[in-house]
Amino acid sequence: MENKRIRKVVIAGGGTAGWMAAAILSKTLGKVIDIKLVESEEIGTVGVGEATIPPLVKFHQLLDIREQDFMAAVQGTFKLGIAFENWHDVGKDYIHSFGTTGRDHWSAGFQHFWLRGRQLGVAGEYGDYCLELRAAEENKFAHLPKNGMNYAFHIDASLYAKFLRKFSEGFGAQRIEGKIVDVTAEPETGYIKSLTLASGEVIEGDLFVDCTGFRGLLIEQTLHAGYEDWSHWLPCDSAVAVQTESVELPIPYTRSIAREAGWQWRIPLQHRVGNGMVYCSRYISDDEARETLLNNVEGKLLTDPRLIKFRPGMRLAHWRKNVVAAGLASGFIEPLESTSIHLIQRNMIRLMQMFPLTGIEQSDIDEFNRQTRIDIESIRDFIILHYCVTDRDDSPFWRYCRSMEIPDSLAHRIKLFRETGRVFREEGELFAENSWIQVMMGQGIVPAQYHPVVDVMGKDELERFLANIKSGVDAAVSKLPGHDAYIDQYCRAAK
Ligand SMILES: Cc1cc2nc3c(=O)[nH]c(=O)nc-3n(C[C@H](O)[C@H](O)[C@H](O)COP(=O)(O)OP(=O)(O)OC[C@H]3O[C@@H](n4cnc5c(N)ncnc54)[C@H](O)[C@@H]3O)c2cc1C
Repeated sequence: MENKRIRKVVIAGGGTAGWMAAAILSKTLGKVIDIKLVESEEIGTVGVGEATIPPLVKFHQLLDIREQDFMAAVQGTFKLGIAFENWHDVGKDYIHSFGTTGRDHWSAGFQHFWLRGRQLGVAGEYGDYCLELRAAEENKFAHLPKNGMNYAFHIDASLYAKFLRKFSEGFGAQRIEGKIVDVTAEPETGYIKSLTLASGEVIEGDLFVDCTGFRGLLIEQTLHAGYEDWSHWLPCDSAVAVQTESVELPIPYTRSIAREAGWQWRIPLQHRVGNGMVYCSRYISDDEARETLLNNVEGKLLTDPRLIKFRPGMRLAHWRKNVVAAGLASGFIEPLESTSIHLIQRNMIRLMQMFPLTGIEQSDIDEFNRQTRIDIESIRDFIILHYCVTDRDDSPFWRYCRSMEIPDSLAHRIKLFRETGRVFREEGELFAENSWIQVMMGQGIVPAQYHPVVDVMGKDELERFLANIKSGVDAAVSKLPGHDAYIDQYCRAAK
């Protein structure tokens, strides 16, 4: 332990990670600690990361951020899930929605009832029993009482950083413009002491949050935390991104369209669309990927295509000595399920919960790293699932994905579901049972059995049970306003 009270926190980097860190630290501890954030306009930010998942709603609640203000500031739209197009096979689509599907029995999830209903010819599509999914298909949205609609946001990443900057400065965080050119560590402990900027200014701190993006200036370049590479499971290592004008009203879901050597995203905002192609450079060149993307966008280009290289994996330590990493500095799985901003949020909430009092304890560091690893590994498995369970064999990329070795933890989940229809959520795991079920069935797994409790219902009763749920969902969806109309009255950005 370094026996020193934490009075000065320095955040290195001002992308989404840096400003989320500044927001939560300043709002919670701004009155008792000094918070500085250093960022460099010359280096800039990664400029992507615009689809989110439902826990971000909670993050804003923790910070007392009014949702309407945030949405208008970031040109936001609502997100009810992700449409996976051509992932199971070319021409086959499904939606992974944020909702729950049907009604579970305590002993058996709804999927068991649905599976039997399908066999008997009395069940519709699995998604017919999920409000969020049907609302997404109908392009509708509204907040419902008692958190009746589970949602997230599409945001303009650079506007989000600006919004959080204003918020954080309001709670006393101080922004310093400049390029960090040197990092000084205490010779005896290896703890970081200060950052030196190109201007010569020296910024001292007791605790540092490394949000410098892929370079990991403090956690890796200075403290050599190490990196666990997952590219054998997650072959995509490159992306090209471009923004376009909107040609239609924004839909309340992200589109993820599988291509021959990767996939393409489409993220609708109020003022534009974010597009990108994530791909594996072993199977397609950067030029071909850019061509594929540009041939598959709608609307005039607003930016030049931007190439981003990454290495899927995570840091071996997310907290080392007096440096905590967040965002891309802490690793990157890949953007398929929009989990990266969520992991920033998790790391920062965890830091608040373990905020060092009188000094940094190794036991806190170990616990922080243990919890972070559990979080990331279960997300990693969920993302690999989309690649490895597929009927696609139309390209070398997909043939690699369907035959690659996968983590034992994931192999077990797939086998369990395939053989028994059962899914269990690990404690604290981000993705709930219904997410796993939607993706496993969406990718083509049909469980071999259903739970015997289903047979307690006769065919007619099962038919009525399913029909009741479906008509409840249909009635709720029919009352919802259109997504764009809802944005109009709730959070339209100023022109
Ligand atoms: C292709 C792609 C798509 C993605 N899509 C999603 C998505 O849909 N949803 C999601 O949740 N996440 C997504 N992500 C991840 C998301 O973009 C990041 O988690 C998020 O933007 C946070 O980035 P960051 O702040 O860690 O890094 P950056 O945005 O790279 O910011 C780094 C900051 O550090 C500063 N900096 C670096 N070096 C120095 C230096 N020497 N001196 C001073 N300042 C310095 C930079 O100026 C910048 O301010 C995606 C990522 C990629 C690559």
